[in-house]
Amino acid sequence: MAAISSPASTILMLEKCKSMPEIRQIHAYMIKTGLVYQTLAISRVVAFCSLSGVSGGLDYATSVFHRIQEPNCFVYFAIIKGFADSRDPLKSLVLYSQLLHCLGEFDGLEFSLPSLLKACGMSKAFEEGLQLHGQILKTRFLFDPFVSNSVVRMYLELGQLGMAKRAFDTLPSRDVFSWNSMIAGYSKANEIDLARGLFDEMPQKDLVSWNTMIDGYARCGRCELARELFDMMPRKDIVSWTAMISGYTFNQRPREAVHLFREMLHVSIRPDSAAVVSVLSAIADLGFIEEGRWVHGYLRAHKCSLSSGFIGSALIDMYAKCGYIEDAYHVFTNISHKRSIGDWNSIISGLALHGLGEDALEIFHEMETIGIEPNEITFLGVLTACCHSGLVEEGELYFKLMKENYKISPKIQHYGCMIDLFSRAGNLKKALTIIHDMPMEADDLAWKAVLSACMKHGDVETGELAAQRVMELAPNDSSCYVLLSNIYAKARRWDDVAKVRSMMRERGVKKIPGCSTVYANGKIHEFLVGMEMDGRYGGMILSKLEEVVCRLKLEGYEPDLTQVLVDVGEEEKESLLKLHGEKMAVSFGLINVGKGALIHIVKNLRVCSDCHSFMKLVSKVYNCNLVVRDQNRFHHFTNGYCSCNDYW
Ligand code: ZN
Ligand code: ZN
Repeated sequence: MAAISSPASTILMLEKCKSMPEIRQIHAYMIKTGLVYQTLAISRVVAFCSLSGVSGGLDYATSVFHRIQEPNCFVYFAIIKGFADSRDPLKSLVLYSQLLHCLGEFDGLEFSLPSLLKACGMSKAFEEGLQLHGQILKTRFLFDPFVSNSVVRMYLELGQLGMAKRAFDTLPSRDVFSWNSMIAGYSKANEIDLARGLFDEMPQKDLVSWNTMIDGYARCGRCELARELFDMMPRKDIVSWTAMISGYTFNQRPREAVHLFREMLHVSIRPDSAAVVSVLSAIADLGFIEEGRWVHGYLRAHKCSLSSGFIGSALIDMYAKCGYIEDAYHVFTNISHKRSIGDWNSIISGLALHGLGEDALEIFHEMETIGIEPNEITFLGVLTACCHSGLVEEGELYFKLMKENYKISPKIQHYGCMIDLFSRAGNLKKALTIIHDMPMEADDLAWKAVLSACMKHGDVETGELAAQRVMELAPNDSSCYVLLSNIYAKARRWDDVAKVRSMMRERGVKKIPGCSTVYANGKIHEFLVGMEMDGRYGGMILSKLEEVVCRLKLEGYEPDLTQVLVDVGEEEKESLLKLHGEKMAVSFGLINVGKGALIHIVKNLRVCSDCHSFMKLVSKVYNCNLVVRDQNRFHHFTNGYCSCNDYW
């Protein structure tokens, strides 16, 4: 170490310090030479340690601090700020009362007050916050804009919107920061109309306030209003574009997200990683690879790093959700040198989605071998993988591993996987035991897993119980009525089938309209259940469908009429079944996609069992490959079989 001879050179050395070992070395030297008694120098040690963010820094600072005989207020300020930003922010208040005790006057307190107010907000210390505010009101600090803005922010953080607004209204001077904090606070508390009122009142709006409003509107599902502001904005920056694109993605309007992303590139704005991640997740939602390949191409052409801000994970996820698991794996191997935990999680969930459970487990082992700590999302992927591939023993094993080795307490989703796993395997008793023993109430998804299994295994009694629970937990969900009616139909209890139907009618439960999309000739085509097929094109699809049904009937296809839940004659039921979107989409695909090519369909609901057997036969009779992504997973139909083994 270079010789340190004076306080000045010690300070110079301290300022260059980057790690705890260096600081310890300097501190040791200071003890040896007596420099430790120089207040200025030792204050720097405390300040550096408490503010550096270096691990263990704050503890070291505290121990040095307690050995200073007469700490000056700057030492206090440093350590108060250090604690205010730590995991235990309330400790800063204790130090603050000590500081008040030894200070003759309030000189310099304005340096500490913003940190202390923040600490109160972060740790939800309402009483302490009130006391601080009371103290501020009695002093000149009220006129310090940093302090008074911090008061507003503290009340917002505490969820005290009324007090925040009162503090805001009585601010001696309001700057753009005060306005923006108040607008952001309202927006965060879902009081978007109040935020808008303030926004309209704001004398000089800056980019931050516009972006906050766009983001706020999008987060509460009001995309139209967000878009209106977006279009009105005098100057848009990358944050505005990203807010709008992710708003569309968040509200499940993926097409608009992709469209806007293209528009952004068109006006020569370079996307940041958040915009790329948003557009990739919109594409994953849409389920069609073409747009995804185009974005990937853009990333390559512009040499964007896949490891910046989750782009890699989003890309893996996109390929997997669009049905191209090999490409997902390819991206995963390409970023082998700098993978984040998100990348591992994405590939594991992707493999699970495709029913490739054993591959998913292999990746998990690789992860463990090289010492990457899995988190709760990793285990969600692992358990889903076991579930989709019927790996019951493995599922039990990993569930135990997660709790015992990794000390991760299972969330409702993990329990849901286990319930689904046992239900699928036909062990309904075990599934019900888990529901009974788990620390939280089972949700509608868990009961729906049981219900689906009851249909598969023909267990009417448990099915009734499960349906009852789903109806209570998700009263507007029509799928449990369909499943229950299917269970009765399978048991040939037609009176009960009729009862379910009238129950649905009485309660006004509406089925979510089924929608299937298929990509052909550079465009996405949408088919809704029972949609009017008119024009020459519509006629062509319908007559193709007629032809397909005839050919399939020769192969033994019998329309499963129990899938129709309305009171109509058998003949009419059959024609209603035909109008399920995925059948029209298949016919459309057979007309438009070249022979031997893949027909790729995305469906918003769970595919019904009639459509499922229809597609199995189509793949055989027409010798084609069909890939269908429904609400839960992928179905790869080839030569009369489906990758889900008829259980989904
Ligand atoms: Zn169907
Ligand atoms: Zn299937």
